[in-house]
Amino acid sequence: MGEWSEFFEDFPEYAPGPPSAEELEQEAKRKLKTEIRKMNSDAFALIEKTQEKEKKQYLEKVENCPQCGEKQLNVYKLKPDHVLCECQSCLTYGSGSDLSIAIQEIICANGDELNWKNSSLFKVLQNKN
Ligand SMILES: [Zn+2]
Repeated sequence: MGEWSEFFEDFPEYAPGPPSAEELEQEAKRKLKTEIRKMNSDAFALIEKTQEKEKKQYLEKVENCPQCGEKQLNVYKLKPDHVLCECQSCLTYGSGSDLSIAIQEIICANGDELNWKNSSLFKVLQNKN
């Protein structure tokens, strides 16, 4: 066999003992946690990618964001009477029956944590169709 097995035969006091049940359980838990974390991040990445793709077909124009001033406010016309705006810069969103109402919601969103990455209306509205 290899050098290490010979070494442990000569010096059994240095041979690593079998891991305890507790150590095995800890290790299994750690592995599971890592796997779940990886699966979650893969799933979220996939959802985001799919949503981005689907959203693009509703994108009407890009406006200046009333919150941060960047010209990164995506305006989606989800239905004839429903507009959703999402800023790609500050992540604030707003929606309404027309653009001015959606913009008004963004203006008033200060501090309300209207972050579309956390709680986009997009999915909810799509499911209502
Ligand atoms: Zn913004």
